Amino acid sequence: MRPARYTCAFSRRTAGRGCCSSAKQINVGDSLSNETKNSFDVIVVGSGASGGWACKRLSEAGLKIALVDCGRKHGDEDFREHKRSWDLKYRDHAPEIIKKTRPVQSQLGSCNEYTYDWFANDLDEPYTTSPDKPFSWQGRLRVLGGRTNVWGRVSLRLSDLDLKATEHDGYGENWPLSYKDLAPYYDLVEGYVGVAGRAEGLPTLPDGNFQPDMGLTCGEAKLRNTVKEKLGWTITPTRTANITRPINGRLACHYCGPCDRGCITHSYFNSAFTTVADALKTGNCTYIPNAMGYKVLMDSDRNRAKGLLYIDRISHQPREVYARAVVLCAQSLESVRILLNSADTQYPNGLANSSGALGHYLMDHVWCGGGAMGEFPDQPGKLDINGPQRPCGIYIARFRNVPGVPRSKNFIRGFGYEGGGGTDFNWDAKGFGVAFKKGLMDPVTTVGMAGFGECLPRWDNYVEINPSVVDTFGIPVLNVHMTYGENERAMCYDMQDSAVKMLETAGAKNIRPFVVPDRTPGFAIHEVGIARMGSDPKKSVLNQFQQTHDVKNLFVCDAAGFASTACQNPTLTIMTLCVRSMDYLMGEMKRGNV
Ligand SMILES: Cc1cc2nc3c(=O)[nH]c(=O)nc-3n(C[C@H](O)[C@H](O)[C@H](O)COP(=O)(O)OP(=O)(O)OC[C@H]3O[C@@H](n4cnc5c(N)ncnc54)[C@H](O)[C@@H]3O)c2cc1C
Ligand code: SF4
Repeated sequence: MRPARYTCAFSRRTAGRGCCSSAKQINVGDSLSNETKNSFDVIVVGSGASGGWACKRLSEAGLKIALVDCGRKHGDEDFREHKRSWDLKYRDHAPEIIKKTRPVQSQLGSCNEYTYDWFANDLDEPYTTSPDKPFSWQGRLRVLGGRTNVWGRVSLRLSDLDLKATEHDGYGENWPLSYKDLAPYYDLVEGYVGVAGRAEGLPTLPDGNFQPDMGLTCGEAKLRNTVKEKLGWTITPTRTANITRPINGRLACHYCGPCDRGCITHSYFNSAFTTVADALKTGNCTYIPNAMGYKVLMDSDRNRAKGLLYIDRISHQPREVYARAVVLCAQSLESVRILLNSADTQYPNGLANSSGALGHYLMDHVWCGGGAMGEFPDQPGKLDINGPQRPCGIYIARFRNVPGVPRSKNFIRGFGYEGGGGTDFNWDAKGFGVAFKKGLMDPVTTVGMAGFGECLPRWDNYVEINPSVVDTFGIPVLNVHMTYGENERAMCYDMQDSAVKMLETAGAKNIRPFVVPDRTPGFAIHEVGIARMGSDPKKSVLNQFQQTHDVKNLFVCDAAGFASTACQNPTLTIMTLCVRSMDYLMGEMKRGNV
């Protein structure tokens, strides 16, 4: 019978299956020769948004890097953005088949017949939750580049309103750094990534080093102008990691649309063909694919990380790799899983966990908690079934609980909206035959928006290792406990009401509001915070350079270090922090401190 403390439909228990905790090194990985096995300066675990930057920054500076990634090799030959559904075996119309092996991953639109083989098999790699606290762990990619293969590319800066939020409302902990520490690194990252956007001069959503934006549709422009004039709120073209001008051999976007199937012209940001490719070009970065990180190996006498134990996903054999420093960039839940699985006698509750904070304060944005859609019959557009597909829309900057306006009585912090619209066929046309065809050709211009809300850090939202369940590689899995609280729920109603207000202000017709105050956490795919940064080692796991307080040559450079979520999408900040931390690591290595 299933123990009461977790639910998992696809788990394999340790019982009768030999766990890897007694695994010994038997061989170095296939792609790793004996000469190279001890010669690394830094091991980087993960090839996604953060790992790619860590590899690029360090290897371009001349350091020898081992890039250990659980994904397989992946590149242009796997990209499917120009493939048509009739070229697929099931015409992209057989979700039940995808669900058989990816019952969790396929809850997300981007895991479909085009791409499902890029995602983890949920049966092989389960996780567990409390029965009353569902959590949907989305976006577990198993190809080079990780989530950046399929991400939505919305790229927004945080401001001091976010980094020092505690100063505004007294809740939680400030980040141990300020906007001025990040600003030059944001510039650097945006310049390389290529972020199309429009400067708006908002102190709460700082402008960036932008390429020309992708423009607005007529309905969006009307909404933007009226809302600014009458409500003072800012609607801007999505700040998106799609390039509108060529850079570094990457071509400008040609507006084909489905970026989450890859891009052979390399026009969106995917670490596989940008940062990682640059790192490999240096000759200083050794890529070890299909390598599932399990534990950080410690030299306990010197309290230093000395390497990584990983499981080869093909042979299921344990292997080890060594270096002077270890940088975890495996996505926050996976990195913290590695740290918790690395518990030893010195760190019985998880490596670098003297504070006890490791695993706690899990956050994920409230995804589409509320919003609305409306029609703009006075803004008719042209119907075109093969027309350009702009790969972005609009972003509505946070306007609640910002300086200079009365505070909300119902919640602290705030939300932004993602949305967009255009002119489409009238798919709701009534009738049959000629009448239906005629109705279909009657264009409908709409604009819609859905809120992304800040999630507060709470101790009782946490992850731990489930000692009774292992994945197919014999690695104990995570048990995730997360719920949204009253603050997040209250925000959802405002997301709906404010969306309606904006559409009404702009004269939209047939407005359709929605609110979903009970979203399952995980769907925003912005999990952050479970090895949080802070200046006090008793209350945090990492310092402002994402170096663990406890083990000086161990860094966690994905979103695990976030002290709060803000309401902006996290990835631009993940990359920015990572570059800053890698510069610090190199300085510490030069100074002989690491
Ligand atoms: C559909 C979708 C839409 C999104 N839209 C946006 C958006 O619009 N804007 C935004 O800011 N963010 C968005 N995100 C989130 C964004 O993709 C992530 O925040 C970002 O990629 C996280 O970077 P990372 O380096 O932490 O992890 P990832 O990019 O996921 O990289 C993690 C890497 O670690 C590897 N790995 C995992 N576990 C192990 C292990 N045990 N051992 C070895 N390797 C391991 C993986 O193979 C992967 O290469 C979206 C995500 C998804 C899935
Ligand atoms: S829309 Fe642009 S970025 Fe997206 S796949 Fe097409 S060309 Fe590439």
